[in-house]
Amino acid sequence: MKKLIEADNNIQAQFIVDHLIAAGIPSHINGKYLNGAVGELPAILGPAIWVEDEQQFAKAKVILESVLSNPEQSQFYKSDWICSECSEVLEAAFTQCWKCSHIRMGLE
Ligand SMILES: [Zn+2]
Repeated sequence: MKKLIEADNNIQAQFIVDHLIAAGIPSHINGKYLNGAVGELPAILGPAIWVEDEQQFAKAKVILESVLSNPEQSQFYKSDWICSECSEVLEAAFTQCWKCSHIRMGLE
């Protein structure tokens, strides 16, 4: 078993794992349940994605890259983003650049 990546959050982690499993690569999220029950403070550790079969690790990395680089998925992420038009750094909540009105990549 080999760790592929530590995701930013559970949504992203689940999204990546879904793609890995769809590609026939057994994988799971470790740390997912550290977030505890509703109402508890979230754990500091991000969820880690583990590839169960090390033989498929290289393939898993390729899938990870394509998932992370696909702009269509950017809306799933809760991280800050950078405007491709004016390079302004924007918070995840913004779907549009407040400076130049450019719409976030993947949402236009
Ligand atoms: Zn902008």
